[in-house]
Amino acid sequence: MKRLGVLTSGGDAPGMNAAIRAVVRKCIYHDVEIYGIKNGYQGLIEGNIEKMDVGSVGDIIQRGGTMLYSARCEEFKTEAGQLKGIEQLKKFGIEGLIVIGGDGSFQGAQKLTEKGYPCIGVPGTIDNDIPGTDFTIGFDTALNTIIEAIDKIRDTATSHERTYIIEVMGRNAGDLALWAGLADGAESILIPEKQDDFNEVITRLKRGHERGKKHSIIILAEGVGSGFEYGDRIHEATNLETRVTVLGHIQRGGSPTANDRVLASRLGAKAVDLLLEGKAGRMVGIQKNKLVDHDIIEMLALSHSIDEDMYQLSKELSI
Ligand code: ADP
Repeated sequence: MKRLGVLTSGGDAPGMNAAIRAVVRKCIYHDVEIYGIKNGYQGLIEGNIEKMDVGSVGDIIQRGGTMLYSARCEEFKTEAGQLKGIEQLKKFGIEGLIVIGGDGSFQGAQKLTEKGYPCIGVPGTIDNDIPGTDFTIGFDTALNTIIEAIDKIRDTATSHERTYIIEVMGRNAGDLALWAGLADGAESILIPEKQDDFNEVITRLKRGHERGKKHSIIILAEGVGSGFEYGDRIHEATNLETRVTVLGHIQRGGSPTANDRVLASRLGAKAVDLLLEGKAGRMVGIQKNKLVDHDIIEMLALSHSIDEDMYQLSKELSI
């Protein structure tokens, strides 16, 4: 292959820029031309495509967001949309495509591969909800953003003896909530993968209050439901002063952590290697700190799961 393309799609994640940089530089290192497609699959359909060089990706490794922009594109879910995309790729002479995004974006990459157009998926999402990789690009940064926010909220919670419900992102996955809860010593962690026992949450709160605890922090993953509704339920059951914070989009932004930059660099470069080896329809990932690749269809058929040991530990430590 002598000419490849790269795009970012779906929700943005810190570290996507580092992945784009790795793809571009790795291509140039191997004497392969590389084209950037702006606005995800929307830009692909529209032919919003530009050649990139070493300088195009200078000074971006430390930036959040994505310099190629991202978009959601309903049209690409249709066969007609996918064929339009392939037409554009052919027009530009692009022989293989690297898609940085979440599982929705991987579905698009798979559709192109099935139509004879080689694609590789690079997992970029703060949610850490893609099977086949221990971590996705952006998860570590989002986690650290959450921890910083909770540490601040904790100061206020202590000063006012309040119970705080903190709603974090993650779509249908509980990883951000679980890791944040462990990292911040939360009283309870509510995640969609586990049925929460409301009575147990109340018991923990009351027990803490009775032994003179100045504050309580409950972390709720957005996939469980509304933090505000949960806060009302807690208040009604305990009469404790309760406050709710929905962290929202601050979790998606910011300069990527060192871990995310390194992960993104390794995964982006690996995706180029796979295409140059003639592979297609694969996703790259990291498992036990080793780079791996898997068939996209096989991975999308699996459902995401949380680390049971970590969940159990979170319970044991928040007695
Ligand atoms: P993420 O990649 O973060 O999971 P989305 O689920 O919104 O985000 O998917 C991003 C884009 O990927 C969609 O807007 C669409 O263009 C494309 N996409 C999603 N699902 C499919 C599908 N089944 N077939 C083709 N393209 C898809």
